[in-house]
Amino acid sequence: MDGPIRQVVIVGGGTAGWLAACLLKARLPALDVTLVESPDIPTIGVGEGTWPTMRETLAAIGIGEAEFLSECDAAFKQGSRFDGWVSGAADDTYLHPFTLPPAGELRDLLAAWQQVAPDQPFASAMTPQGAICAAGLAPRQRAMPDYAGALNYAYHLDAGKFAGLLARHATRRLGVRHVSAEVIGTRPGANGDIAAVLLRGGDELAGDLFIDCTGQAALLIGQHCQVEWVDRSDVSFNDRALAAQIPVLPGSPVAAQTVATAHAAGWLWDIALPTRRGIGCVYSSWFLSDDAAAEILQDYIRDKVPGADAAAVQPRRLAFRTGHRARFWHGNCLAIGLSAGFIEPLEASAIVLIELSLRRLTEAFPADRTEMDLLARRFNELFLQRWDRIVEFLKLHYVLSRRSEPYWQAQRDPATVPERLQESLALWRHHPPSARDFPDFEEIFPAASQQFVLYGMGFALPSAATVPSAAALGRLAEVRDRARAMCAALPETRAYLDAIAASQHERQVAAL
Ligand SMILES: Cc1cc2nc3c(=O)[nH]c(=O)nc-3n(C[C@H](O)[C@H](O)[C@H](O)COP(=O)(O)OP(=O)(O)OC[C@H]3O[C@@H](n4cnc5c(N)ncnc54)[C@H](O)[C@@H]3O)c2cc1C
Repeated sequence: MDGPIRQVVIVGGGTAGWLAACLLKARLPALDVTLVESPDIPTIGVGEGTWPTMRETLAAIGIGEAEFLSECDAAFKQGSRFDGWVSGAADDTYLHPFTLPPAGELRDLLAAWQQVAPDQPFASAMTPQGAICAAGLAPRQRAMPDYAGALNYAYHLDAGKFAGLLARHATRRLGVRHVSAEVIGTRPGANGDIAAVLLRGGDELAGDLFIDCTGQAALLIGQHCQVEWVDRSDVSFNDRALAAQIPVLPGSPVAAQTVATAHAAGWLWDIALPTRRGIGCVYSSWFLSDDAAAEILQDYIRDKVPGADAAAVQPRRLAFRTGHRARFWHGNCLAIGLSAGFIEPLEASAIVLIELSLRRLTEAFPADRTEMDLLARRFNELFLQRWDRIVEFLKLHYVLSRRSEPYWQAQRDPATVPERLQESLALWRHHPPSARDFPDFEEIFPAASQQFVLYGMGFALPSAATVPSAAALGRLAEVRDRARAMCAALPETRAYLDAIAASQHERQVAAL
């Protein structure tokens, strides 16, 4: 029991399971890693928007960027655009881009923005990414090293193809053992740990550390460890989604950002891949029936996807619980992915939490069972705080809305707004969000994210407005110059992705 931790058993082969297998084996090659997944229980099959952390993750795993883009039907994601969130009017739109505002005191930059271009959206004034997204350009040139960009970026991808690529890479190149079987129970050890998982058919898999990636089933953390569920639906109301995939014509433009369009009781996502658009309707079952949500989805497709037969679309229906475990690491069981928790997909916070959980695990991997308890305590403390920050940041998108439907009014009810967010909003009237408010060096939504949402949604500027410094005026002029230069130099996204697909195809043919 006190020996080194050598054998890791991952249960579940969705995005969480295969990312865990790849990262563990790539970073800690001496580990013996087995992934067991049921051939009959499907993965959730959604999760198509990532965070920029994915570039570092793929590089660490050892997958080249061109291979990833072509194998996963992937495209670049440079941020999220929010349509109709403030008032619902036709011109109501703002961008949360991934590239940060220029360095310097935000109050000073805000004053410069107001002096030079008060009618320009905040994101366009603060970063060239607004112009690049509007023009549908890629954030990098093909000659750049893998995963480097002129601007910060993440990806849109096909979740099924992504899990497939990770599975092939893990088993063929990294030495992960794959077992296709359903786990039907556990064999407890003397101390309450999991000694082995029991497979249908009579076999078992023993291990030192078990990673629960069984999705919403939460087989190990929930059923074996009985770790309580912390419900967050009092703050985050959405609990349903309809997901559709609409093929697009070859050569059609590929949008540079996720588009999130508000509707009467939730919002729709629109994610562009080279061959299709993933479109979904997220809503709250307290405020909207499934049939009404299906109509909203159909109307959106009819309106936004020229040529699509909206009436023929048969969306997948998904129901989810909003919340997370009270502890993610319990004994020798660590929950990663949906088994650890889920909150609606606004701002794509789920896969990045998987990546950060795995970064934390691999950077301080337990030397033995005794150390595991100490690491688990720290892990739980950190990730509970991260969940709180995510819940608050997503709620920020709702509390700043002025929409009048009952759902949106309920979202603004102070009884549903976390106390810390209420305090932050009071403070931000005079002191714009800064790194002081978000000191975690791996903050998922740092001060810049809060700024893009606040000032994108028209939050009042600090009352004691200052005269801008020459330095701040100069930085905003630089943003404008860089936007012009990048618009001239960066390739169009569709052309970039088609060229990658063609060269990968040529390589595959040559290798035959
Ligand atoms: C509508 C919606 C949209 C989303 N959009 C995004 C997004 O844009 N960005 C983002 O970051 N995240 C998004 N997510 C979340 C994202 O889909 C998940 O975080 C991600 O796919 C990880 O899922 P998972 O691997 O934990 O679970 P799953 O994909 O459900 O995989 C579970 C695995 O466990 C296996 N399994 C289950 N029970 C057993 C058993 N008894 N024995 C053996 N194996 C078992 C299954 O076979 C499967 O392989 C979205 C989620 C939803 C619901």
